Amino acid sequence: MKKEPFNSFVTAQFQFDKTADWLGLDLPARTLLRSPMKEHHFLIPLRMDDGNVRVLRGFRVVHNDARGPAKGGIRFHPQETIDTVRALAMWMTWKCALLGIPLGGSSGGVVCDPHFLSLREQERLCRAWVRQLPHELGPNVDVPAPNMMTSAQHMLWMLDEYEAPRGVKCPGFITGKPVGMGGSLGRAEATGFGVVFALREALKGLDLPADGTTASVQGFGNVAQHAVRLYEQLGGKVICVSCWDQKDDTSYAYKRASGIDVHALAAVTDRFGGINREEAKKMGYEVLPGESWLAQDVDILIPAAVENQITADNVGTIHPRVRLIVEGANGPTDIEADRLIAEKGTLIIPDILANAGGVTCSYFEQVQSNMNYYWEKDEVLGKLDVKLTSAFNSVLEFANKKSLSLRQAAFAIAVSRVVQACQDRGWI
Ligand code: NAD
Repeated sequence: MKKEPFNSFVTAQFQFDKTADWLGLDLPARTLLRSPMKEHHFLIPLRMDDGNVRVLRGFRVVHNDARGPAKGGIRFHPQETIDTVRALAMWMTWKCALLGIPLGGSSGGVVCDPHFLSLREQERLCRAWVRQLPHELGPNVDVPAPNMMTSAQHMLWMLDEYEAPRGVKCPGFITGKPVGMGGSLGRAEATGFGVVFALREALKGLDLPADGTTASVQGFGNVAQHAVRLYEQLGGKVICVSCWDQKDDTSYAYKRASGIDVHALAAVTDRFGGINREEAKKMGYEVLPGESWLAQDVDILIPAAVENQITADNVGTIHPRVRLIVEGANGPTDIEADRLIAEKGTLIIPDILANAGGVTCSYFEQVQSNMNYYWEKDEVLGKLDVKLTSAFNSVLEFANKKSLSLRQAAFAIAVSRVVQACQDRGWI
């Protein structure tokens, strides 16, 4: 039988439907929340440096904004699809609700590969994306942020494009800005650190001291690198990381049984999280096929790359020793793999909880930008720890009380909060 191509939105809707059944939601609530409220699709004619024009496809989707202005990242990615954007917007709604952040969920992107765009072309693209949404973005409407292959520099160009015609400074328009230009200290670390705050709490429940545990990580970009750094500070050892190799158009895993040196490896990694294979070999890393990150003899797995990486086809390769899977990426585990892992009794900290440190810190950035007063890094990361730890413990308590998985519990809490907001506003 021919396999359907993976679609994150199918997963997101499946998760929602299951939660809606469990909560006993009525038809209006289900209909309103299982699809985005608003979608913008547009074409961006991009003038290239050589004078030619390329027409790129862009999106912005607001899933739900009952709890506050929408918030969500922008990806520049060759495999971007409207369904990925829809899924990310929906997951963002649940993340904000779960963390108790007064924001809704959105997401956006452009189908393009910034590896092949000059800086000036990227600047024109950022400005054009903002121009396509003249009334749909704003600090009280919908607040963008970086995601895969978009950076602080991209956010600054977008901010400038928003402010210029309005003749105002409006740093709360966007988050993920450079520090000193409205950005928050700690934003770079936030998602990866949040992953490890959740991991730390889960290990307590498993009675497994972090010191002495080992982990294998998929990805070596922003989320993965910061997660590895904090996990090592807790005494854990990462023996394998993986990344996409742009030149070879495939992924590789980099293994060192004595533990990776995150700083040295980061020094030979490009800004897209691609490790230089030859340099890594010289440093003593074994280079393995990309999927090997999943089969390592470790206690913890951290998928921190892209969607749909743990599937029914490869879930069987997970080593029996693995006790905990922490979803740094959005949607890394497909529906069937999720079921099989739960059957085995391995704990999964779901993405909407594990990687919510990013949006939590984005919210802190928005607050700081709106008052034009910026906190010290320790204050930001301390507040982040409090939020993540409290959300983790609420999910764990609810899961134990109702005999649910952490994923089911996290979705039940988040969805019921959004339903409540829609009801309180009189929408349903
Ligand atoms: P990034 O672009 O900095 O890094 C992505 C990493 O994944 C790179 O090392 C890349 O080589 C690797 N990769 C890509 N495809 C791969 C594959 N098929 N196999 C192995 N490695 C692969 O991105 P990031 O910001 O670290 O985000 C990673 C994930 O975390 C994404 O799913 C993103 O949506 C999610 N996330 C990010 C943030 C954030 O604040 N950056 C917040 C929440 C969720």
